[in-house]
Amino acid sequence: MRYRINRRTGDRISEIGLGSAYIYEAGTDTAVKILRRAYEGGVNFYDLAAGDGKAFPMYGEAFADVRDEIFYQIHFGADYSKGEYGWSLDPETIKRSVAWQLDTLGTDYIDYGFIHCQDELSDWEKYLRNGIYDYIMQLREQGVIKHIGLSSHTPSVIERILDEIPADMLMFSINPAYDYGHGDYANGGVDERSRLYSRCESEGIGISVMKPFSGGQLLSSDSPLGRALTPYQCIRYALDKPGVLTVLPGAQTTDEIETLLAYHDQPESALDYSVIGECAPTEAEGKCVYCNHCRPCPVGIDIGLVNKYYDLSKAGDLMAADHYGKLTLTASDCIACGHCDSRCPFGVHQSARMAEIAEYFGK
Ligand code: SF4
Ligand code: SF4
Repeated sequence: MRYRINRRTGDRISEIGLGSAYIYEAGTDTAVKILRRAYEGGVNFYDLAAGDGKAFPMYGEAFADVRDEIFYQIHFGADYSKGEYGWSLDPETIKRSVAWQLDTLGTDYIDYGFIHCQDELSDWEKYLRNGIYDYIMQLREQGVIKHIGLSSHTPSVIERILDEIPADMLMFSINPAYDYGHGDYANGGVDERSRLYSRCESEGIGISVMKPFSGGQLLSSDSPLGRALTPYQCIRYALDKPGVLTVLPGAQTTDEIETLLAYHDQPESALDYSVIGECAPTEAEGKCVYCNHCRPCPVGIDIGLVNKYYDLSKAGDLMAADHYGKLTLTASDCIACGHCDSRCPFGVHQSARMAEIAEYFGK
């Protein structure tokens, strides 16, 4: 397992986390096996926006002895009083639900307390009016909540909320389908979504990625992109986005958790998702997605990384220029051989861009 640091909290978070939408369907014995295997494989980040309340005792049983080694995302707005997941903006319902979740999990604290699923500004206004955010802050002052999170599918709403509150983590839906305008949660255009990722990176707000496979659609033959991707391509795609710390796929069988845990054992060729360049919308053409499909560069420049620092720096990320300055090989080492131009499936004229980047950074 590899880990990334949340710059705001210092938490060391596994690149592969686990979502819990359907784990309850596995039944207790299998679910506990899946969770223990995930833990043993180094997964330390678990989202608890479960599809059904049955998931909570499964987590409680699996992690009773290792609670302090893992992180939970718990959502203020997810209600399990009727068994299955329900969404609520009622403060008393939320208080009861969170108390029940903690009790059932066998824990008395929350690593990341999430403002849950704010897809409309009117939801957020009601959330504030109903005192739910105040309640979260009260729990944080008491030490019950360690850090604040926000979940949403809508970039414009997220931007507005991030302007108002100090979130340490964002849970957002990232996959090539949504980023390219396909699917129910494809909210915001290519540029709007990219700006959000850059903002999070720049401000140190870690992103945990929900729906990395677009609810499984991207893995199937009727994928919205016209071709099936693999779980590894989707995970790599999400991990390449600025700001992303962890990807949260689900697992309902022991085979599925083994598949996810094998991510870091895959050769680069199995992670290469550049095939999505064939279905990139016009809006995305000529924009580097940092996939490094154009490697090898004869000089050895890390083309994806150089481009990422450039985009982040232009978006106002001061640390990106610093990181760029520490690279051994920079854009000024480019010999304009054109190899990357001919290899890029996203239509990036990279050799010209290298000249632009070298001029921007002065090296
Ligand atoms: S230039 Fe193209 S192939 Fe190379 S990293 Fe950027 S998007 Fe990927
Ligand atoms: S054009 Fe520059 S960055 Fe691209 S492969 Fe050639 S030397 Fe490397």
